Amino acid sequence: MFEIKNVSKQYNGEFALNNISFAMGKGLHFIVGASGSGKTTLLKIISGMEQDFDGEAYFCGKSIKELTSNEKSYYYNNIFGFIWQDFNLLEDLSVLDNVLVPRYLKNNQNQKNAETILKDLKIFDLAHQKVKYLSGGQKQRVAIARELMKNPRVIIADEPTSALDEKTAKTTMDILRAISKNRTVIVVTHDANLIDNKSNIFNLDKGELIASPQEIVTKTAGLKYDERHSLSIKNAIALTESNVKSKFGRFIISTLALMVAGVLCLTTVSGTIGGSSQGEFDKLIDTYGEGLKDISIVGSFMSAGGTGGNKEEQPNANVTQDIGGLYDKYVGDKRIDFTAFLQAFNDIEVTVSGKEYTVQSTGSTPSINKLVAGKMPTGKVNEVVVPEGFVKTLGISNEQAIGKEIDFSSKMYNWDSGEPVLKDASITATIVGVADTTVYYEYEGKMTEYTVDDSFFFSKAALDDMRKQAEIKKNTMNFLIRAKTPADMISIKDELNEAGIVPLGRFELVEDIVRLNKQTTEQSGSASVIIGIFSVVMVIAIFLITGFMRKREFAIYKVSGFNHAHLNLLNLSERITETLTASLLMLITSPLINIATRGLFSASILNSKMLLTGVLLIALVAVVAYMTTAIAILKTHTIIALKTGDR
Ligand code: ADP
Ligand code: MG
Repeated sequence: MFEIKNVSKQYNGEFALNNISFAMGKGLHFIVGASGSGKTTLLKIISGMEQDFDGEAYFCGKSIKELTSNEKSYYYNNIFGFIWQDFNLLEDLSVLDNVLVPRYLKNNQNQKNAETILKDLKIFDLAHQKVKYLSGGQKQRVAIARELMKNPRVIIADEPTSALDEKTAKTTMDILRAISKNRTVIVVTHDANLIDNKSNIFNLDKGELIASPQEIVTKTAGLKYDERHSLSIKNAIALTESNVKSKFGRFIISTLALMVAGVLCLTTVSGTIGGSSQGEFDKLIDTYGEGLKDISIVGSFMSAGGTGGNKEEQPNANVTQDIGGLYDKYVGDKRIDFTAFLQAFNDIEVTVSGKEYTVQSTGSTPSINKLVAGKMPTGKVNEVVVPEGFVKTLGISNEQAIGKEIDFSSKMYNWDSGEPVLKDASITATIVGVADTTVYYEYEGKMTEYTVDDSFFFSKAALDDMRKQAEIKKNTMNFLIRAKTPADMISIKDELNEAGIVPLGRFELVEDIVRLNKQTTEQSGSASVIIGIFSVVMVIAIFLITGFMRKREFAIYKVSGFNHAHLNLLNLSERITETLTASLLMLITSPLINIATRGLFSASILNSKMLLTGVLLIALVAVVAYMTTAIAILKTHTIIALKTGDR
């Protein structure tokens, strides 16, 4: 069966085995020798676990050195059985589940066979016990049962009785002796009591074979390697199920890690954290009104002293500028919410449904905080937006006012001569909107507000008509631009400045906000990226730790015949199970998560659209976990598992 020719193995220049040659057939064989004499090294070589040695070793005529890793895993599932000093069982699994491990790679899960073997070894009563509660002798019988499930041709046992008491050691030896009737059993031991004279004894001393039986090796059946040595998806799922049950704590930690990392990554991609500075701006809008985003473009204005406004916000000079054509330029701009003409009227009389109303003049420039109903007027027809205060005097709701026709007559100032001259003008227009005309301003450090109740905003067509009646020739229709965002406002202002126009507005205040906003967005942006990276690193760490803690488990799978492809299918099945559970957990706990993120980032992140993204991110993080575990699998060497024997 085995033919070993001139085999030597050196570790750091020292011979662990020195020019060993022997042949070994069926039956029971003992390898004996003092500690450090090379017994374990010899077992590693004949089982293919150590393929880096000098000389030649054959099993059934096949060079052990040349076995591929796939061939080896096939052999470990079908031809070689291993029994160890410290059993190498999966402690948290039941006896039956341990015994069934090699069978996952065979498509018929042969439970009947398992029962017979357990009965033969007198551990059938323990079938559903967890291995960790068993005695040493019982554990060794479970290990023997597991290896017999492979129906192997060879059983290799390295110090199988060292951890057992004398009586149990004898029983175990009896079992091995019985097994050796129709297989090759190789037992490493230094317990002379266990050795009988009928068996073949190989005696090692400091790496040299000082005694060995002259065996005539009869030709044995050739070896075949079954390409279908595979783990079915069904069995991978069954194994996952058994692992989840036996290591529930580990499963929960992994699942929670995926869920937490997924949710944290979600805050990164959704920009939730950046959203909080937007909230700060909204608060300022609450204080200063929507008019904070206004840019007034006027043909001429007085110095700061003359307007009574905030000195800092208006240039201290008499300004006359050509604003013709600017209205048309900005009316369709993407950065603009709306535009409105700032035409003041005096002595306003309005007739609605035959009833006449007089509107008190305020002497202020028309003002609009926001549109409360309808829309802003368009240029082509006679349309008007009226102040909310006016609608109140009509005694109707804002909605009812829309569509009503008004006859509007007033006096307008004509400045064409350089001196103001009041001229009559009147028009019939349809109400298309109602405006809240509140003005918010800071006065002696306190916020004050008032309404400009004579703020009527006409369409260009209506206004052109009235200006014609007032004989106004100058093409200087003052208007305001309501920017969509503070950033839009500043960009329009800069653009106008470049064109030599001085617009009016609370630019200093808004510029501060824009700068602050940009800063906090950048800061929170990098903060959320750090959180995202941190969460992925956390997952890598957790899965590396669990992966390396599972090295012994992976090694047990490997000596049971699992190759890397099988273990990675198991890895995949486990990560998918965790992904599904983590996603479900996220769905269930999403109301709680929202409360938490509202507290942390003043925004809730898990709306229905975000939940889908969340599931995708958990899956993405699970891919990282899969790769981390794959590394742990790759780094697991079966030799590690063989580091037993006399230590
Ligand atoms: P035994 O099983 O008979 O106690 P081993 O085969 O384990 O002996 O070891 C034989 C010699 O080889 C010892 O001197 C041991 O220190 C050395 N040895 C075994 N494995 C390694 C290794 N992986 N690296 C370095 N030296 C080793
Ligand atoms: Mg040893």
